[in-house]
Amino acid sequence: MDAELVLLELRRGGLEVDWRVVDERESLESALGSFVPDVVLSDYTMPLLDGWTAMQVARSRLPSIPFLFVSGSIGEERATEALRAGATDCIPKHALGRLSPAVLRALSEAEQSRRRREAEAALRERDERYALAAAGSSGGIWDWDLLAGRIYLAPRWNELLGSTGGATVATFDDWLALVHPDDRETFVRLVELHRRGDTPVLEVELRLRHRSGSFVWVLCRGLASRGANGEAKRMAGSITDVSDLRRALEQLLKNARTDSLTGLPNRQRFLDRVTHALDLTHRLPEFRAAVLLVDLDRFTLLNEALGLSAGDRVLATTAQRLAGAVSSHDLVARLGEDSFGVLLEQVNEPSEARARASGLLAALAEPFFVAARTVVAGASIGIVEDVRPYGEAEDVLRDAETAVARAKRLGRGRWSVFDPRVRGELSSRYVLRTDLKRAIERHELALEFQPIASLVDGTLVGCEALVRWQHPEQGPVSPAVFVPLAEEEGLVSRLGELVLEDACRIAHGWSGSGIGPITLSVNVSAVQFRSSDVARAVSAALEASGLRPDCLQIELTEGAVMEDPEAAARSLRALRDLGVGISLDDFGTGYSSLAQLKRFPITSLKIDRSFISDLPGNAESAAIARAVLSMAESLQLGVVAEGIESDEQRSALVGWGCRYGQGFLIGRPMPPEDFLARARRWA
Ligand code: C2E
Ligand code: MG
Ligand code: MG
Repeated sequence: MDAELVLLELRRGGLEVDWRVVDERESLESALGSFVPDVVLSDYTMPLLDGWTAMQVARSRLPSIPFLFVSGSIGEERATEALRAGATDCIPKHALGRLSPAVLRALSEAEQSRRRREAEAALRERDERYALAAAGSSGGIWDWDLLAGRIYLAPRWNELLGSTGGATVATFDDWLALVHPDDRETFVRLVELHRRGDTPVLEVELRLRHRSGSFVWVLCRGLASRGANGEAKRMAGSITDVSDLRRALEQLLKNARTDSLTGLPNRQRFLDRVTHALDLTHRLPEFRAAVLLVDLDRFTLLNEALGLSAGDRVLATTAQRLAGAVSSHDLVARLGEDSFGVLLEQVNEPSEARARASGLLAALAEPFFVAARTVVAGASIGIVEDVRPYGEAEDVLRDAETAVARAKRLGRGRWSVFDPRVRGELSSRYVLRTDLKRAIERHELALEFQPIASLVDGTLVGCEALVRWQHPEQGPVSPAVFVPLAEEEGLVSRLGELVLEDACRIAHGWSGSGIGPITLSVNVSAVQFRSSDVARAVSAALEASGLRPDCLQIELTEGAVMEDPEAAARSLRALRDLGVGISLDDFGTGYSSLAQLKRFPITSLKIDRSFISDLPGNAESAAIARAVLSMAESLQLGVVAEGIESDEQRSALVGWGCRYGQGFLIGRPMPPEDFLARARRWA
């Protein structure tokens, strides 16, 4: 009856009701299991159920559903208690007119609080997510109050930049001070653009100073939040350490493995393959590999004469010809502008590499048809016949380069095999480095002197000091090996000073011991010449020894003076001002022209022994020797021919007007005492 009345009242209030009526605890519980009401209305005193229990059951099952008492018996006091215990409202039975408004109000409040709860939950979830993200992110969060000019930097910033401490508050200037000078301008510009709203996000890669002084690459991202007028009030974002990524990327770029012009593998890939081959040769005794370095002879000239695109055609065609001339398990790669590498695997005989080189030379000697012309580029090849003794691919290449340089010196269009004896024990190069340092410090290097004589009348006119190193375990090491090592190790200036001091002291000691005045020649390496004050070292050595300046001559290679002609001319003048002579060593192997030489205060030339060794038979060498001689004459320079080993060579040179010579025919390099004895008996 009561329920009917209530329903009637609700309908009258305009509510459409779907309802269930229960009158005991069990039926209440089972109804709540299958039917979810928007509101529960209950009497306070009922025959089988009391209102208090009903409220507790309803509240525990559906905590957010409004629960109203509609009762005639509840009384003021109980009603207050019920409201305090969780009832939504109490409507007396005699005032049922208030029921509908009360139910409507309860429903709308329930709806509101449901929404609020949802919003709160969403907010809580977002906060948690943000906190999680911030904690889990490898990036440093920053939050910049643009109006106050304060930036909050999360603790991770300190971690990234090697400092200790937690979160920091900084200014933009503080931040900027951390940015690499080269990145500042871009960074400021991008921040400003985003602040003005010209970019959707701030995104920039920049370097931040690490406490150690190095820089860390970071990706900085940020987003501004704006007021109603569009003005940015706040900007927040993160920085992420991308150093590893950067490094990986750089490596990737470096490893980009193909040369785009020729489609051949590039240097890096070639080195990788050589490394792999080295590995195999070390593990499999029967595995042999050889490396050929192919260098075009006239490429620079062609490029200049016919233009770059013709040059590109020549390179592409060269690549095709090389690839066509090797077998399928060999590798052809482009190593430099006009140099190519060939890795020959499975070579059975050392001579096989030479035969292959000849084949490649023949393929490249064929004319190229470019720019409507027929041109011949020609090539020289350096060969490392057996890679077994090597530990590093780079070392193989370097020796192949040495061999190619020799092939070019010997007249181009030919191959030359790297002679491992030149370099001594290859695998012990590392040991040599450390030993060399000690040898220099302990003064363990010795000097030998090789006579220089007149080819016309045989008189002794001078000697060249040649440095020697007797390695305690490895025996004699050639200066052709350890001088370059000293250059690489930054030891060459010290080495050079020691040689100068000793040579001057020894030579001065000879005066008055029965030999006429002779000139002492001392070699100065290109690196020493460029990196230190040679004139000062020379004048110190002269002063310490008492040797007359006009008895000393400094030997330099073309490379030493050609790299920076201006600076070289100054240093050479300083030497000449001291009164010492200057001789250009190994002349003919570089590419100096007459006109260039005129600028330098040089007193003599030494014709490189590679042009002497195949005299008089080799027409090309003969032509070069004669050209050098006539050129020297016109410049009034003295000429010494190096490496004279036979009488035929000597007479040919004399015939062409060469007056001085040096070589095994005249005398081998010898220790100072022997040289003195020999000089006394001279003539
Ligand atoms: P270089 O200045 O051209 O010295 C001449 C080289 O030719 C010496 O080799 C000498 O022993 C060798 N030689 C002389 N006559 C003959 C010959 O008839 N036949 C042959 N086959 N060889 C001959 P070495 O002593 O092995 O020196 C090689 C290079 O090392 C020198 O070439 C020079 O560039 C450098 N070097 C030697 N001593 C010094 C030094 O004290 N300081 C510097 N910076 N370099 C040095
Ligand atoms: Mg020399
Ligand atoms: Mg020389």
